[in-house]
Amino acid sequence: MRVLIAEDDPKIARFVAQGLSAEGHETSLVHSGRRALERVENESFDLLILDLGLPELDGLEVLRQIRARRNEIRVIVVTARGEVDDRVIGLDLGADDYLAKPFSFVELSARIRALFRRTEGGAERVLTLGQLEVDRVERTLSRGEGAKVPLTSRELQLLDYFMKHADEPQSRAMLADRVWGYQFDTGTNLIDVYVNYLRKKLRLVNLEPVKTLRGIGYVFDAAACSPVS
Ligand code: CA
Repeated sequence: MRVLIAEDDPKIARFVAQGLSAEGHETSLVHSGRRALERVENESFDLLILDLGLPELDGLEVLRQIRARRNEIRVIVVTARGEVDDRVIGLDLGADDYLAKPFSFVELSARIRALFRRTEGGAERVLTLGQLEVDRVERTLSRGEGAKVPLTSRELQLLDYFMKHADEPQSRAMLADRVWGYQFDTGTNLIDVYVNYLRKKLRLVNLEPVKTLRGIGYVFDAAACSPVS
């Protein structure tokens, strides 16, 4: 796999690059946001490991520009700031995962494997439930012949999971484990934030299948995908 590491701290850059090389990946290093953007634009990488605090162009701006150009490179955002806001912004802008500094290489490596397991999976391209149709390659949802609503890769994973487990109550911990592939620190509301992003997109096609189960979590109501009109 070709990995671009955008990190201005030489120690961290080196330890990530050495670890990934030892696992057999081809790694490239850049130290500024501008350079990261140039290389992503002009070359083909499987993964970008993106520090948010970068000179010239910060990581969030790099991410924004990458996604604005419809580049679907997988991105793991790394930040020292550790603020929920940053991570929500990062994920909302289309990062696939988030890692707070300091992190161990083992942790990074596990996240990378989980990310590729989730996004490759060899599953069918189009998933349907009632009138809801999801194109996993285009990363869109739609209803009947209506407009296609773009999804971030995380929203797609969440929706995919919900559709395959329709009518089964899901706790936040289960969603964290099954969709994100790891446990969140207690107290973060990332799952709720993501469920709400997804709800907004489903509402654009007039579907409201994601129900809150008080004290439990959520359930994806299959019947709500085939509303009587
Ligand atoms: Ca930095």
